[in-house]
This record gives sequence, structure tokens and C-alpha cells, in this order.
Amino acid sequence: MVLSNNLPKTAIDRKKLAAGIKRLVVKVGSNLLASVENGLNLETIEHLALELSGLWQQGYEVLLVSSGATLAGMQSLGLSEKPKTIPARQAAAAIGQSRLMWVYEQSFKKHNQMVAQVLLTQDDLSSRHRFLNARNTLDTLLSYKVLPIINENDTVAVEELKVGDNDNLSALVTSLCEADLLVILSDIDGLYTADPYLNADACLIPLVDCVTSEIEKLASGSKDSQSTGGMITKLQAAGKAASFGVPTIITSGRIPNVLTRIMQGEELGTLFLACESRLAARKHWIAYALKPHGRLVLDDGAKHVIINKGKSLLPSGIKAVEGNFEAGDAVSCVDVSGKEFARGLVNYHAQELEQIKGHRTGEIEKILGYKYYDEVIHRNDLVLL
Ligand code: GLU
Repeated sequence: MVLSNNLPKTAIDRKKLAAGIKRLVVKVGSNLLASVENGLNLETIEHLALELSGLWQQGYEVLLVSSGATLAGMQSLGLSEKPKTIPARQAAAAIGQSRLMWVYEQSFKKHNQMVAQVLLTQDDLSSRHRFLNARNTLDTLLSYKVLPIINENDTVAVEELKVGDNDNLSALVTSLCEADLLVILSDIDGLYTADPYLNADACLIPLVDCVTSEIEKLASGSKDSQSTGGMITKLQAAGKAASFGVPTIITSGRIPNVLTRIMQGEELGTLFLACESRLAARKHWIAYALKPHGRLVLDDGAKHVIINKGKSLLPSGIKAVEGNFEAGDAVSCVDVSGKEFARGLVNYHAQELEQIKGHRTGEIEKILGYKYYDEVIHRNDLVLL
């Protein structure tokens, strides 16, 4: 069914895969981190802090997507069941989130690893402007070697603005920070051919090359009362990450030193392959999924270096700016005859570009009073048509 013969050997793939990873997102589910009866599981958090700090020390950039706030808050409030109303759930999350961060702070401090809290909503990820703000903040934190601990902003997100579960949130974070790998740690070893709690013959599937409807069927019904999504949302997350060009490993957070072993290439859990390379996926998205919000008329010199030398677009090559776009929007690059030859995501607002067009990068800060980037469109955000 899934394990067709023409698939590459997973053990070899894992080593190769691990060797190519620099930035990874690790998602840890509520069931591992907390319980209603005992609140936060300090031992698990201590161990997580040890492993994640270790990865940072080895040179990986790691982001953590952590659940557990609502369960921790419920325990503080003495509730044994998830509150029925949204405000009550939000209140529990608010109480639990600060407790959760406090425990993380204490645990990471022992390893001299600084952490930061980042709370996101669906709105932050679907608005291009806020997406870029969030991305810049995460990039800056990583450049300071600070580990971002991300959760959904449960206290402000009303139902329709929610991602809804941290599995899907972790896939979106993977795209936001352009990570190379998503690891989802849960209390099950990976994807099985049947529900392992109900069927003794169920076996673990080590490799999935594409999340098809057949694969999704394997997850139906596997959900318990405390987790938000069960295997279904994990598969959705793996499918999303694959479409962004990022592989996912779903495995058990109860395996000793699980993250270290994954990064050593050990074959744990289920590996979901990416559909195409991350850059290819991104470029495909820029070229075909986004509607251009304006046009930049470029001189022949800029056109030449973009097409023939693989360079980014700098302000000096821009002759005219058309349209009213924001930083992060897609724009068309046209030559002096008006022919479109490339598309990309701009780093500056149309009005800012109007002021810096034709100028050298060294002059950007003097003209605008600030500078986000040297490039108006970075090469990785630029697609030739
Ligand atoms: N944001 C929720 C919390 O911290 C968890 C959502 C999830 O586990 O998917 O309680």
C-alpha cells in the first residue's frame, strides 16, 4: 500500500536528511507536557530543555511549538474537564501559559539557553504584513541564539481566527521561519497501518511519500479526550509542511533522547517526505499562487544581472514604481518595453520604493531614515518567468 518497493531505503535517507538540516521546528503535544490531574510534567520539560539546548549547542537553530497551556491552567483552577465556554477555556489558557513559560524559563536557564515567548493567531499568519513582522521577529531571535517557544494566542483568538491545533500551527511556523524539518512529538510512535491500541497486528509505517486520502484514512478515529487533534491534525500538518517543501517526522516524545537520535539519522517514527524542494515550492507559490499587486520597471542592467547572473534586485535598477503595494506583496518585474520577465516579493512598500528607486543600497537609510534590507527583492523571493 504505502511501502512500495521503489521507495528509497529509509535508514539511508534519514542520515542524509539529518545531514542537511540546519533549522528545525519541534512540536510537543499537551499529553506529553501536562495532565489535568498533575498539571505540567516537570520531568518531561526538564528533559526537553536539556535536549533542545544540546541541539542549539551543536549549531542547530531550533524553535519549539509547545501546547500544554490549557491543561496547566485547568489544573491550577482545579477543573477536571475542558471548560465548555470559550472565555473559560481562554482564561485557563491565560493562567497556564504564564505557568508554562515560567517552567520553561527555569529549565532552559540551567543550560544557559535563553528563550522567548511567541504567541500567534491565524490572523498573524494569513495577513502578509503580520506574517513578515512575525518572520522578522523570529529571524532576529534566532540570530541572537534565543529559542522561540511558540503557542497559539488562545486568550485573544476567537474560534474563526484560530489555527485550532498546534499540529497545524507548527506546520505554518515551519513555513514562517523557513525551517528544514518539522518534528512532531506525541505519545504515539508514528503512523500505524491500524490503530495500535485496538489492533495487535498494526505496524508502524516508517516512510510516507505523500499524504493521500488513503493515508488520511489510517488516522480516522484515533483521538483521545485530552489532545486537540489526534493523528488527523498531525497528518494535516505533515501534508502542509510537504507542500512547503519541508519533511516531517512524527514520533513519540517518550523515546529517550529522541531529538538527538533523530538528528543522528536514527530511523524513528514516520518520516513524511517533502513534495519538492523548499525553494522550488516557494518559487512556485510566488509565480502562480500570488496575484501581483504592482509593477517595477527595471533598467536593462538590472534585467541582465537578474536573468543571467542570478542576482537579487537592488533599488539602483528600478526606473519606475507602479501600483500601491505593501512590503511582502508580490509584484511583477517588467523591462523598459513593459514586458514582464520575473515576479517576486518586495521588501519595501511602494511609497518607500518611490523614494529609493535609482539609488545605491548605501543610501537607503539616509533617504528613509531606516533600512530593512539591501535588496528590494531577494533572490530567493524572485522567480524568472
Ligand atoms: N494551544 C493549546 C494549549 O496550549 C493547545 C492546542 C493543541 O494542543 O493543539 O493548551
